[in-house]
Amino acid sequence: MKRLLLLGAGHAQLSVLAALARQRVPGAEVVLVSAAERQLYSGMVPGLVAGRFSEAECSIALAPLAATAGARLIRGQAVALDAAEHFVTLADGQRIDYDVLSLNTGPVQDRERIPGAHANALFLRPIEAFVQLWPQARALAEEDLLDVVVIGSGAAGVEIALAVGARLGTRCTLTLVSSGGPVLPGYGQSVRRRALAALARRSVQVLPGPCTAIEPGHVRLGTLRVACDVPIMAIGGDAPAWLAGSGLALDAAGFVRVGATLQSASHPGVFAAGDVIVRDDAPHPRSGVYAVRAGPVLAQNLRRFVAGGALMPYAPQRRSLNLLALGDGRAIASWGGWSFQGRAMGWWKDRIDRAFIRRFSDQP
Ligand SMILES: Cc1cc2nc3c(=O)[nH]c(=O)nc-3n(C[C@H](O)[C@H](O)[C@H](O)COP(=O)(O)OP(=O)(O)OC[C@H]3O[C@@H](n4cnc5c(N)ncnc54)[C@H](O)[C@@H]3O)c2cc1C
Repeated sequence: MKRLLLLGAGHAQLSVLAALARQRVPGAEVVLVSAAERQLYSGMVPGLVAGRFSEAECSIALAPLAATAGARLIRGQAVALDAAEHFVTLADGQRIDYDVLSLNTGPVQDRERIPGAHANALFLRPIEAFVQLWPQARALAEEDLLDVVVIGSGAAGVEIALAVGARLGTRCTLTLVSSGGPVLPGYGQSVRRRALAALARRSVQVLPGPCTAIEPGHVRLGTLRVACDVPIMAIGGDAPAWLAGSGLALDAAGFVRVGATLQSASHPGVFAAGDVIVRDDAPHPRSGVYAVRAGPVLAQNLRRFVAGGALMPYAPQRRSLNLLALGDGRAIASWGGWSFQGRAMGWWKDRIDRAFIRRFSDQP
Protein backbone atom coordinates (compact mmCIF):
# COMPACT_ATOMS: atom_id res chain seq x y z
CA MET A 1 0.00 0.00 0.00
CA LYS A 2 1.19 3.50 -0.81
CA ARG A 3 0.06 6.34 1.43
CA LEU A 4 -1.43 9.29 -0.42
CA LEU A 5 -1.48 12.27 1.91
CA LEU A 6 -3.89 15.07 1.02
CA LEU A 7 -2.71 18.10 2.97
CA GLY A 8 -5.32 20.89 3.19
CA ALA A 9 -8.86 20.66 1.88
CA GLY A 10 -8.56 23.54 -0.55
CA HIS A 11 -10.56 23.99 -3.75
CA ALA A 12 -8.50 21.51 -5.83
CA GLN A 13 -8.34 18.89 -3.10
CA LEU A 14 -12.15 18.85 -2.89
CA SER A 15 -12.15 17.63 -6.49
CA VAL A 16 -9.64 14.93 -5.55
CA LEU A 17 -11.96 13.76 -2.75
CA ALA A 18 -14.98 13.78 -5.09
CA ALA A 19 -13.02 11.76 -7.66
CA LEU A 20 -12.01 9.26 -4.96
CA ALA A 21 -15.65 8.98 -3.93
CA ARG A 22 -16.47 7.93 -7.50
CA GLN A 23 -13.49 5.62 -7.85
CA ARG A 24 -10.84 4.62 -5.30
CA VAL A 25 -7.14 4.52 -6.19
CA PRO A 26 -6.14 0.84 -6.08
CA GLY A 27 -3.18 0.23 -3.77
CA ALA A 28 -3.45 3.56 -1.99
CA GLU A 29 -4.32 4.40 1.60
CA VAL A 30 -5.65 7.97 1.57
CA VAL A 31 -5.22 10.36 4.51
CA LEU A 32 -6.67 13.87 4.54
CA VAL A 33 -5.18 16.41 6.95
CA SER A 34 -7.19 19.56 7.45
CA ALA A 35 -6.80 22.42 9.89
CA ALA A 36 -10.58 22.80 10.11
CA GLU A 37 -13.48 20.34 10.10
CA ARG A 38 -15.15 22.20 7.27
CA GLN A 39 -14.05 24.14 4.23
CA LEU A 40 -15.58 27.62 4.30
CA TYR A 41 -15.99 28.76 0.73
CA SER A 42 -14.19 32.11 0.46
CA GLY A 43 -16.30 33.27 -2.50
CA MET A 44 -19.36 33.33 -0.20
CA VAL A 45 -17.70 34.94 2.83
CA PRO A 46 -18.55 38.51 1.74
CA GLY A 47 -22.19 37.34 1.44
CA LEU A 48 -21.93 35.85 4.94
CA VAL A 49 -20.64 39.18 6.29
CA ALA A 50 -23.46 41.01 4.49
CA GLY A 51 -25.96 38.69 6.19
CA ARG A 52 -27.06 37.09 2.92
CA PHE A 53 -25.87 33.56 3.78
CA SER A 54 -25.61 31.51 6.95
CA GLU A 55 -22.36 29.78 7.90
CA ALA A 56 -23.90 26.43 6.99
CA GLU A 57 -24.71 27.67 3.49
CA CYS A 58 -21.03 28.60 2.91
CA SER A 59 -19.51 25.42 4.37
CA ILE A 60 -18.53 22.00 3.10
CA ALA A 61 -18.36 19.43 5.90
CA LEU A 62 -15.17 17.41 5.46
CA ALA A 63 -15.96 14.29 7.53
CA PRO A 64 -18.75 13.00 5.23
CA LEU A 65 -16.78 13.89 2.10
CA ALA A 66 -13.67 12.10 3.43
CA ALA A 67 -15.78 9.10 4.41
CA THR A 68 -17.29 8.71 0.93
CA ALA A 69 -13.79 9.13 -0.54
CA GLY A 70 -12.45 6.36 1.73
CA ALA A 71 -9.99 8.82 3.27
CA ARG A 72 -8.97 8.92 6.92
CA LEU A 73 -9.49 12.47 8.17
CA ILE A 74 -6.99 13.90 10.63
CA ARG A 75 -7.75 17.31 12.10
CA GLY A 76 -4.46 19.14 12.37
CA GLN A 77 -2.33 22.02 11.28
CA ALA A 78 0.85 21.20 9.36
CA VAL A 79 3.81 23.12 10.78
CA ALA A 80 6.66 21.43 8.91
CA LEU A 81 7.33 19.31 5.87
CA ASP A 82 10.40 17.21 5.18
CA ALA A 83 10.31 16.48 1.47
CA ALA A 84 13.54 14.42 1.59
CA GLU A 85 12.26 12.09 4.32
CA HIS A 86 8.62 12.18 3.15
CA PHE A 87 6.83 13.33 6.26
CA VAL A 88 4.72 16.19 7.58
CA THR A 89 4.67 17.37 11.19
CA LEU A 90 1.47 18.69 12.74
CA ALA A 91 1.17 21.36 15.43
CA ASP A 92 0.45 18.68 18.07
CA GLY A 93 3.75 16.94 17.22
CA GLN A 94 2.20 14.12 15.20
CA ARG A 95 4.38 12.88 12.33
CA ILE A 96 2.58 11.72 9.21
CA ASP A 97 4.61 9.81 6.64
CA TYR A 98 3.62 9.69 3.00
CA ASP A 99 4.62 8.15 -0.29
CA VAL A 100 2.75 10.71 -2.39
CA LEU A 101 1.81 14.17 -1.12
CA SER A 102 -0.86 16.48 -2.50
CA LEU A 103 -0.55 19.98 -1.09
CA ASN A 104 -3.46 22.44 -1.22
CA THR A 105 -3.23 24.55 1.92
CA GLY A 106 -3.88 27.92 0.33
CA PRO A 107 -2.25 31.23 1.21
CA VAL A 108 -1.67 32.86 4.59
CA GLN A 109 -1.59 36.52 5.57
CA ASP A 110 1.67 37.80 7.01
CA ARG A 111 0.59 39.01 10.46
CA GLU A 112 3.76 41.04 10.96
CA ARG A 113 3.75 42.95 7.67
CA ILE A 114 2.15 46.03 9.25
CA PRO A 115 3.31 46.95 12.77
CA GLY A 116 0.55 46.42 15.32
CA ALA A 117 -1.64 44.36 12.99
CA HIS A 118 -0.99 41.07 14.75
CA ALA A 119 -2.28 42.40 18.07
CA ASN A 120 -5.04 44.73 16.89
CA ALA A 121 -6.47 43.66 13.53
CA LEU A 122 -9.02 41.17 12.28
CA PHE A 123 -7.41 39.07 9.53
CA LEU A 124 -9.46 37.52 6.70
CA ARG A 125 -7.28 34.40 6.90
CA PRO A 126 -7.57 31.84 8.27
CA ILE A 127 -11.13 32.27 7.05
CA GLU A 128 -12.39 29.97 9.84
CA ALA A 129 -11.00 32.34 12.49
CA PHE A 130 -12.38 35.40 10.70
CA VAL A 131 -15.85 33.89 10.56
CA GLN A 132 -15.73 33.15 14.31
CA LEU A 133 -14.53 36.66 15.21
CA TRP A 134 -16.60 38.78 12.85
CA PRO A 135 -19.88 38.47 14.84
CA GLN A 136 -18.08 39.84 17.92
CA ALA A 137 -16.87 42.84 15.94
CA ARG A 138 -20.33 43.28 14.42
CA ALA A 139 -21.96 43.23 17.87
CA LEU A 140 -19.97 46.35 18.84
CA ALA A 141 -22.06 48.29 16.32
CA GLU A 142 -25.16 47.59 18.46
CA GLU A 143 -23.65 49.75 21.23
CA ASP A 144 -22.09 52.65 19.35
CA LEU A 145 -21.16 53.94 15.89
CA LEU A 146 -18.36 51.62 14.68
CA ASP A 147 -15.38 52.89 12.70
CA VAL A 148 -14.31 50.10 10.34
CA VAL A 149 -11.18 50.32 8.20
CA VAL A 150 -10.51 47.67 5.56
CA ILE A 151 -6.81 47.48 4.71
CA GLY A 152 -6.20 46.16 1.19
CA SER A 153 -8.16 47.18 -1.87
CA GLY A 154 -8.01 44.05 -3.99
CA ALA A 155 -11.19 42.11 -4.81
CA ALA A 156 -11.51 40.66 -1.28
CA GLY A 157 -11.05 44.09 0.37
CA VAL A 158 -13.62 45.77 -1.88
CA GLU A 159 -16.15 42.95 -1.41
CA ILE A 160 -15.69 42.91 2.38
CA ALA A 161 -16.01 46.72 2.65
CA LEU A 162 -19.25 46.66 0.65
CA ALA A 163 -20.52 43.68 2.66
CA VAL A 164 -19.84 45.44 5.99
CA GLY A 165 -21.64 48.50 4.62
CA ALA A 166 -24.61 46.41 3.55
CA ARG A 167 -24.81 44.78 6.98
CA LEU A 168 -24.17 47.71 9.31
CA GLY A 169 -25.50 50.61 7.20
CA THR A 170 -25.44 53.88 9.17
CA ARG A 171 -24.20 52.11 12.31
CA CYS A 172 -20.64 52.27 10.95
CA THR A 173 -18.22 54.52 9.13
CA LEU A 174 -16.20 52.73 6.46
CA THR A 175 -12.75 53.38 5.04
CA LEU A 176 -10.91 51.33 2.43
CA VAL A 177 -7.14 51.74 2.32
CA SER A 178 -5.12 50.69 -0.71
CA SER A 179 -1.42 49.91 -0.63
CA GLY A 180 -0.70 53.16 -2.44
CA GLY A 181 -1.85 52.09 -5.90
CA PRO A 182 -5.35 52.05 -7.34
CA VAL A 183 -8.34 50.13 -6.03
CA LEU A 184 -8.64 46.67 -7.66
CA PRO A 185 -5.15 46.43 -9.16
CA GLY A 186 -5.15 44.01 -12.08
CA TYR A 187 -8.75 44.84 -13.08
CA GLY A 188 -9.83 46.86 -16.10
CA GLN A 189 -10.87 50.51 -15.96
CA SER A 190 -14.58 49.78 -16.35
CA VAL A 191 -14.68 47.39 -13.36
CA ARG A 192 -12.72 49.86 -11.28
CA ARG A 193 -15.14 52.67 -12.19
CA ARG A 194 -18.15 50.55 -11.27
CA ALA A 195 -16.57 49.42 -7.99
CA LEU A 196 -15.65 52.99 -7.02
CA ALA A 197 -19.24 54.07 -7.72
CA ALA A 198 -20.55 51.22 -5.53
CA LEU A 199 -18.14 52.22 -2.75
CA ALA A 200 -19.26 55.85 -3.03
CA ARG A 201 -22.95 54.80 -2.81
CA ARG A 202 -22.10 53.04 0.48
CA SER A 203 -20.22 56.16 1.67
CA VAL A 204 -16.95 54.23 1.84
CA GLN A 205 -14.03 56.63 2.08
CA VAL A 206 -11.20 55.39 -0.17
CA LEU A 207 -7.67 56.37 0.90
CA PRO A 208 -4.49 55.62 -1.03
CA GLY A 209 -2.36 54.35 1.88
CA PRO A 210 -0.23 52.43 2.45
CA CYS A 211 -1.18 51.65 6.02
CA THR A 212 1.96 51.96 8.15
CA ALA A 213 0.73 50.94 11.61
CA ILE A 214 -2.33 49.72 13.44
CA GLU A 215 -2.79 50.97 16.97
CA PRO A 216 -5.72 50.70 19.38
CA GLY A 217 -8.38 53.20 18.26
CA HIS A 218 -6.83 54.17 14.93
CA VAL A 219 -4.75 53.15 11.93
CA ARG A 220 -1.83 55.19 10.64
CA LEU A 221 -1.20 56.01 7.00
CA GLY A 222 2.16 57.75 7.38
CA THR A 223 1.38 60.92 9.32
CA LEU A 224 -2.40 60.58 8.84
CA ARG A 225 -4.40 58.96 11.67
CA VAL A 226 -7.76 57.39 10.81
CA ALA A 227 -10.14 56.53 13.66
CA CYS A 228 -10.70 52.81 13.71
CA ASP A 229 -12.45 50.36 16.06
CA VAL A 230 -12.21 47.37 13.72
CA PRO A 231 -9.28 47.14 11.30
CA ILE A 232 -9.91 44.33 8.79
CA MET A 233 -6.81 43.00 7.08
CA ALA A 234 -7.54 42.22 3.43
CA ILE A 235 -3.91 42.30 2.33
CA GLY A 236 -3.05 39.70 -0.29
CA GLY A 237 -1.99 36.15 0.35
CA ASP A 238 1.53 35.13 1.32
CA ALA A 239 3.25 31.74 1.17
CA PRO A 240 3.14 29.70 4.40
CA ALA A 241 6.38 30.18 6.37
CA TRP A 242 6.51 26.47 7.32
CA LEU A 243 7.31 25.54 3.71
CA ALA A 244 10.64 27.41 3.92
CA GLY A 245 12.53 24.52 5.51
CA SER A 246 10.79 21.78 3.53
CA GLY A 247 13.46 21.24 0.88
CA LEU A 248 10.87 21.77 -1.86
CA ALA A 249 11.80 24.10 -4.72
CA LEU A 250 10.22 27.46 -3.86
CA ASP A 251 10.26 30.84 -5.58
CA ALA A 252 11.71 33.95 -3.89
CA ALA A 253 8.37 34.63 -2.16
CA GLY A 254 8.17 31.06 -0.82
CA PHE A 255 5.53 29.60 -3.15
CA VAL A 256 5.94 25.99 -4.33
CA ARG A 257 7.32 25.73 -7.85
CA VAL A 258 5.33 23.21 -9.86
CA GLY A 259 5.32 22.23 -13.51
CA ALA A 260 2.47 21.51 -15.90
CA THR A 261 1.66 18.17 -14.24
CA LEU A 262 1.33 19.97 -10.86
CA GLN A 263 4.37 18.07 -9.57
CA SER A 264 6.93 19.91 -7.47
CA ALA A 265 9.88 21.09 -9.57
CA SER A 266 12.19 19.31 -7.11
CA HIS A 267 10.21 16.33 -5.75
CA PRO A 268 8.09 14.39 -8.27
CA GLY A 269 6.16 12.62 -5.48
CA VAL A 270 4.84 15.97 -4.24
CA PHE A 271 1.92 17.55 -6.08
CA ALA A 272 0.51 20.98 -5.28
CA ALA A 273 -2.32 23.21 -6.46
CA GLY A 274 -4.13 26.42 -5.59
CA ASP A 275 -2.72 29.62 -4.16
CA VAL A 276 0.30 27.90 -2.63
CA ILE A 277 1.93 27.28 -6.03
CA VAL A 278 3.76 29.23 -8.68
CA ARG A 279 3.91 28.12 -12.31
CA ASP A 280 6.97 29.53 -14.06
CA ASP A 281 5.83 27.99 -17.36
CA ALA A 282 2.27 29.38 -17.15
CA PRO A 283 1.99 32.29 -14.69
CA HIS A 284 -1.59 32.98 -13.61
CA PRO A 285 -3.33 34.96 -10.87
CA ARG A 286 -3.93 33.37 -7.49
CA SER A 287 -7.66 32.92 -7.19
CA GLY A 288 -10.20 30.29 -6.34
CA VAL A 289 -11.14 29.97 -10.02
CA TYR A 290 -7.70 28.62 -10.95
CA ALA A 291 -7.56 26.39 -7.88
CA VAL A 292 -10.93 24.86 -8.82
CA ARG A 293 -9.87 24.27 -12.44
CA ALA A 294 -6.69 22.49 -11.36
CA GLY A 295 -8.69 20.00 -9.26
CA PRO A 296 -9.69 17.40 -11.91
CA VAL A 297 -6.13 17.29 -13.34
CA LEU A 298 -4.69 16.95 -9.84
CA ALA A 299 -7.10 14.06 -9.15
CA GLN A 300 -6.16 12.30 -12.40
CA ASN A 301 -2.43 12.78 -11.91
CA LEU A 302 -2.42 11.48 -8.33
CA ARG A 303 -4.24 8.37 -9.55
CA ARG A 304 -1.86 7.90 -12.50
CA PHE A 305 1.25 8.56 -10.42
CA VAL A 306 0.28 5.87 -7.90
CA ALA A 307 -0.47 3.46 -10.76
CA GLY A 308 2.74 4.37 -12.63
CA GLY A 309 0.95 5.89 -15.66
CA ALA A 310 1.70 8.97 -17.80
CA LEU A 311 0.62 12.29 -16.27
CA MET A 312 -1.59 15.00 -17.83
CA PRO A 313 -0.65 18.67 -18.13
CA TYR A 314 -2.84 21.39 -16.61
CA ALA A 315 -3.09 24.45 -18.83
CA PRO A 316 -4.60 27.36 -16.87
CA GLN A 317 -7.09 29.35 -18.91
CA ARG A 318 -5.74 32.67 -20.25
CA ARG A 319 -8.58 34.71 -18.75
CA SER A 320 -11.38 33.93 -16.37
CA LEU A 321 -14.87 35.20 -15.64
CA ASN A 322 -14.76 37.45 -12.63
CA LEU A 323 -17.73 38.17 -10.39
CA LEU A 324 -17.39 40.83 -7.74
CA ALA A 325 -20.17 40.89 -5.12
CA LEU A 326 -21.50 44.33 -4.18
CA GLY A 327 -22.98 43.21 -0.86
CA ASP A 328 -26.61 43.85 -1.73
CA GLY A 329 -27.26 40.89 -4.03
CA ARG A 330 -25.82 42.65 -7.06
CA ALA A 331 -22.44 41.94 -8.67
CA ILE A 332 -20.04 43.20 -11.33
CA ALA A 333 -19.20 40.54 -13.91
CA SER A 334 -16.10 41.00 -16.05
CA TRP A 335 -14.49 39.10 -18.86
CA GLY A 336 -11.38 40.56 -20.47
CA GLY A 337 -12.18 44.24 -21.04
CA TRP A 338 -15.98 43.77 -20.76
CA SER A 339 -18.01 44.35 -17.64
CA PHE A 340 -21.67 44.18 -16.66
CA GLN A 341 -23.39 44.98 -13.42
CA GLY A 342 -26.68 44.32 -11.72
CA ARG A 343 -28.95 41.92 -9.92
CA ALA A 344 -28.77 39.33 -12.70
CA MET A 345 -24.98 39.16 -12.26
CA GLY A 346 -25.49 38.75 -8.50
CA TRP A 347 -27.99 35.95 -9.11
CA TRP A 348 -25.48 34.30 -11.44
CA LYS A 349 -22.68 34.52 -8.85
CA ASP A 350 -24.92 33.08 -6.12
CA ARG A 351 -25.94 30.26 -8.43
CA ILE A 352 -22.31 29.33 -9.23
CA ASP A 353 -21.29 29.55 -5.56
CA ARG A 354 -24.23 27.49 -4.30
CA ALA A 355 -23.60 24.87 -7.00
CA PHE A 356 -19.99 24.59 -5.79
CA ILE A 357 -21.12 23.89 -2.21
CA ARG A 358 -23.76 21.40 -3.39
CA ARG A 359 -21.25 19.54 -5.56
CA PHE A 360 -19.21 18.56 -2.51
CA SER A 361 -22.00 18.30 0.02
CA ASP A 362 -24.27 15.92 -1.91
CA GLN A 363 -21.80 13.08 -2.48
CA PRO A 364 -23.57 9.75 -2.80
C1 LIG B 1 -13.07 37.27 1.33
C2 LIG B 1 -12.53 36.56 0.12
C3 LIG B 1 -13.32 36.39 -1.00
C4 LIG B 1 -12.82 35.75 -2.13
N1 LIG B 1 -13.64 35.60 -3.21
C5 LIG B 1 -13.17 34.96 -4.30
C6 LIG B 1 -14.02 34.75 -5.43
O1 LIG B 1 -15.19 35.15 -5.43
N2 LIG B 1 -13.50 34.10 -6.50
C7 LIG B 1 -12.20 33.63 -6.50
O2 LIG B 1 -11.78 33.03 -7.49
N3 LIG B 1 -11.37 33.83 -5.46
C8 LIG B 1 -11.83 34.46 -4.36
N4 LIG B 1 -10.99 34.66 -3.27
C9 LIG B 1 -9.63 34.12 -3.34
C10 LIG B 1 -9.68 32.67 -2.91
O3 LIG B 1 -10.10 32.60 -1.57
C11 LIG B 1 -8.33 31.98 -2.98
O4 LIG B 1 -7.74 32.22 -4.21
C12 LIG B 1 -8.58 30.49 -2.78
O5 LIG B 1 -9.10 30.26 -1.50
C13 LIG B 1 -7.32 29.67 -2.93
O6 LIG B 1 -7.74 28.34 -2.84
P1 LIG B 1 -6.83 27.21 -2.28
O7 LIG B 1 -7.53 25.95 -2.64
O8 LIG B 1 -5.44 27.38 -2.72
O9 LIG B 1 -6.81 27.40 -0.67
P2 LIG B 1 -7.94 27.56 0.41
O10 LIG B 1 -9.27 27.75 -0.18
O11 LIG B 1 -7.43 28.62 1.33
O12 LIG B 1 -7.95 26.17 1.17
C14 LIG B 1 -6.87 25.76 1.95
C15 LIG B 1 -7.32 24.77 2.98
O13 LIG B 1 -6.18 24.26 3.65
C16 LIG B 1 -6.35 24.35 5.06
N5 LIG B 1 -5.03 24.63 5.62
C17 LIG B 1 -4.35 25.79 5.55
N6 LIG B 1 -3.16 25.67 6.16
C18 LIG B 1 -3.11 24.41 6.62
C19 LIG B 1 -2.13 23.69 7.33
N7 LIG B 1 -0.96 24.24 7.69
N8 LIG B 1 -2.39 22.41 7.65
C20 LIG B 1 -3.56 21.82 7.30
N9 LIG B 1 -4.53 22.46 6.62
C21 LIG B 1 -4.30 23.73 6.28
C22 LIG B 1 -7.33 25.48 5.28
O14 LIG B 1 -8.03 25.28 6.50
C23 LIG B 1 -8.23 25.33 4.07
O15 LIG B 1 -9.23 24.41 4.34
C24 LIG B 1 -11.49 35.29 -2.14
C25 LIG B 1 -10.68 35.46 -1.00
C26 LIG B 1 -11.18 36.07 0.13
C27 LIG B 1 -10.30 36.22 1.36
